[in-house]
Amino acid sequence: MKGKIIIISAPSGCGKSTIIGAIMERGNVELQFSVSATNRKPREGEKDGVNYYFLSTQDFLDKVAGGEFVEYEEVYPGRFYGTLKSEIIRTVEEGKNVVLDIDVKGGINVKKQFGDEAITIFIMPPSVAALRERLIHRGTDAIDVINQRVEKAEYEISFAGQYDVTIINDNLDEAITNTENVIKEFLEK
Ligand code: 5GP
Repeated sequence: MKGKIIIISAPSGCGKSTIIGAIMERGNVELQFSVSATNRKPREGEKDGVNYYFLSTQDFLDKVAGGEFVEYEEVYPGRFYGTLKSEIIRTVEEGKNVVLDIDVKGGINVKKQFGDEAITIFIMPPSVAALRERLIHRGTDAIDVINQRVEKAEYEISFAGQYDVTIINDNLDEAITNTENVIKEFLEK
């Protein structure tokens, strides 16, 4: 039996990585994380081949030309991210389920290619105002950066209706459990 594809997208600051990490740690559903390629520089603590395959812009564009991506997007100006065919095809063929943490356009693109073999899940903040509060409270970004993130979040939220399922992250534990239940149900189908 082939594995299935779980696509999770969310505006930044909505707890997406925390939710994916918690579900994988709980281990109630068998999931393998799809490591994307990017030309952005690693952040502190990030490891090549674990968080991303960190490539030069030239190497990234060579892989684009070589048809090595299922999808890729310029998520921020000059910053490319892409899902490698090798990451998902091999895993799915081995019968393992794969989870993709990718942006909204990439998510919709992958869903189009894989149809019922894939589910798209959108993690939503309780409101745009709540997201702004959360970003201000976190204290890591200047106000103009926060404004940019909020603007981008509004743009991304406008794609939520095209996703199969929307989970509101008001309470983190509930959001983790709800996401896990949606994945379980999808895998049992
Ligand atoms: P970050 O730089 O914060 O790790 O990621 C920035 C954004 O790029 C996030 O929204 C993340 O979901 C998205 N992203 C990561 N990998 C991929 C990918 O392979 N394809 C697409 N389209 N987006 C990705």
